[in-house]
Amino acid sequence: MEVIVFIFGVMIGSFLNVVIHRVPKGENIAFPPSHCPKCNTKLKPYHNIPIISWLLLKGKCAFCKEPISIRYPIVELLTGILAVIVYEKFKVIDIYFIVTFGVFATLLALSVIDLDYKAVPDSLNLLALTLAFFSSPDILENFKNALLVMGGMSLIRYYVSYFIKQEAMGEGDIIVGGTMGALLGIKGAIIAIFIASLIALPASLYNRFSNKELELPFIPFLALGTLIAWFFKNEILEFWSIMYG
Ligand SMILES: [Zn+2]
Repeated sequence: MEVIVFIFGVMIGSFLNVVIHRVPKGENIAFPPSHCPKCNTKLKPYHNIPIISWLLLKGKCAFCKEPISIRYPIVELLTGILAVIVYEKFKVIDIYFIVTFGVFATLLALSVIDLDYKAVPDSLNLLALTLAFFSSPDILENFKNALLVMGGMSLIRYYVSYFIKQEAMGEGDIIVGGTMGALLGIKGAIIAIFIASLIALPASLYNRFSNKELELPFIPFLALGTLIAWFFKNEILEFWSIMYG
C-alpha cells in the first residue's frame, strides 16, 4: 500500500511544481500545458514522469539543454514521502487522509514559494486553512481552534510590534497559525510553534553571525513543526498532561 501512496504523492508533487512555478506569477495553473521555460517547447508525456524524467535527462531540457532546477525532483520526492507519512498515521485511505494530505501538500508548496520568492500567496494559504477545518470530523472544534490560535498570534503581534516599533510577524504567518490550530488543537499548535522555533534557531543564528541581512523565511519551519507535532500528537498530549495535569 505504501508504494501506491508514494506514487500518488509523487504525482501530486509534480502538480505542486506547476503551482509553485505559476501561482506567484499569477499564471493559470491548468493552461498552457507543461513547457520548457527557456525554449517554450511543449513537453512530451515521457518527459513529464516525476523524478525519473529529470534523472534520465540529467537535469536538462530535452530540446534546448537548458538546466532544469533540482527543485522539481526534490519537491516530487518530498511530496511522495509526505503522503506516506500521513498514510502511516491514518492507516486507511479516507476523506480525512485526503484532506489532511492536501493541507500538508499545500504547506509544502507555500514553504518552497516562501524560500524562493520570499512571498506567501494568500490563495494557497487560505486553501490550507480552509482544508484544515475539514481535516477531522469535529469541524466546529477545528474552526474554533483556528480562531483562537490566530487571535493569540495577532495579540502577540500587536504587543511585539508596539515594543520593537516595527511590524513583527507577517500576516501570512498568522493564517498558517490558523491552519495549525485547526489541525493540531491549541496545545498541539503551541508545541508546533515551539518545535518550529527550535529548528529555525541554528539557521537564524547563522544568519546573524554571517553578517548577511537576509530575512529568514519562517513558513518552512512552521510547516515542518506542524508535521512533527501532528504525527506525534498523542505523545505530545500525553507529555503535556504529565507536565501540567
Ligand atoms: Zn528547453
